[in-house]
Amino acid sequence: MNSLKDIEITGKTVFIRCDFNVPKDEDGNITDDRRIRGALQSIRYCLDRDCKVILASHYERPEPGIYEEKFSLAAVVTRLHTLLKLASDINLAKDVVGLDAKAKAAALKVGEVLVLENLRYEAGETKNDMAFAKELASMVDIYVNDAFGACHRAHASIDAMARLFAPEHKAAGFLLSKEVNFFDKTLSNPIRPFVAVVGGSKVSGKLEALRQLLDKVDKVIIGGGMAFTFLKAKGYEIGNSLVEDDLLDEARTVMIKARKKGVKFYLPVDVIVAPEFSDSVPSKYVTSQEIPEGWMGLDIGPASTRLFRTVLSDAQTIIWNGPMGVYEMDKYAKGSLKMSHNIADSNGTTIVGGGDTADVALRAGDVEEMTFVSTGGGASLNLLEGKTLPGIEALKA
Ligand code: AMP
Repeated sequence: MNSLKDIEITGKTVFIRCDFNVPKDEDGNITDDRRIRGALQSIRYCLDRDCKVILASHYERPEPGIYEEKFSLAAVVTRLHTLLKLASDINLAKDVVGLDAKAKAAALKVGEVLVLENLRYEAGETKNDMAFAKELASMVDIYVNDAFGACHRAHASIDAMARLFAPEHKAAGFLLSKEVNFFDKTLSNPIRPFVAVVGGSKVSGKLEALRQLLDKVDKVIIGGGMAFTFLKAKGYEIGNSLVEDDLLDEARTVMIKARKKGVKFYLPVDVIVAPEFSDSVPSKYVTSQEIPEGWMGLDIGPASTRLFRTVLSDAQTIIWNGPMGVYEMDKYAKGSLKMSHNIADSNGTTIVGGGDTADVALRAGDVEEMTFVSTGGGASLNLLEGKTLPGIEALKA
């Protein structure tokens, strides 16, 4: 796979597939612009080489063909302009491959940036439609993929479009290269002890990653909703906590494999329980062996936090994916926030998988303390599962 530095781009029109799918609050303000910041290096590199730059991204999930304002990339363009500190305006096309986009692309001058509207306004994007990919490709000379967070999906701007370019005319952007190299390097040659901290709602979503990690790590810490399937598999009463009964055998198999491989496997020893999935009901903390009937575990308790801190104390490499509890409700956020602090305090290499976990690290004020916070949730999980990403395959094709 070529990196941007490996190909000749001077004076060319360059398409950069970015991941501008950033979170916003209820008023439409961008709450975390790391994904936009992440794209700056590739954009600046192209502008410094007298390129005309066309940027494209999806944003959430609009109904194709319906141009609703809330799905527009307008707010992203404003933030991008501030961050790039360009003298000229950044143009936002009114469409993706329509008359406006084509006219604005044709009028683009050296050193200017054009952003196409939300790729998912076009039905062809998620269908990996070749005709749509050809329309996109017709506007540019060079294809760059810098959208790590979207690389696990074989969509038109990620897969079909990349395949239309010869190897010398396509490359991975700096963010994509950095993300992939980081996971690659860490997983293939970790400094030990290597600890995986895995949480989140379901075992099913992380089972394959867990299986793969057991071959590589020295210790596993499990938290979040998925811990209850493991606790139940060990014979504990878990009340009304989240559980995947069809995975109890799988959970046992994972724990047996851990034991056989000498991987230390840690589950929460206490939990915060409540009678309902709500933050306006009384809650209490109990040991994992004493979850009352009818109550559900919504966060790890203080003893688990202390135990996990000890487990992490000698770690040289930590990979963290998934919150320890329902961190969206303040009452059940403590376990996740403290886990974030404990990981951030480590002197080893710390890697935070994207999505919710990055959000926890951000809320905890720990992002700067982590070695690497990935911009892609699904994509980073796929790398942990040992899978190749469609976006990377298309760049190599
Ligand atoms: P995931 O997308 O699998 O990483 O899961 C993240 C979600 O797991 C977050 O929205 C959390 O609220 C949720 N979660 C974490 N712990 C629990 C729990 N004990 N019960 C229910 N949901 C949980």
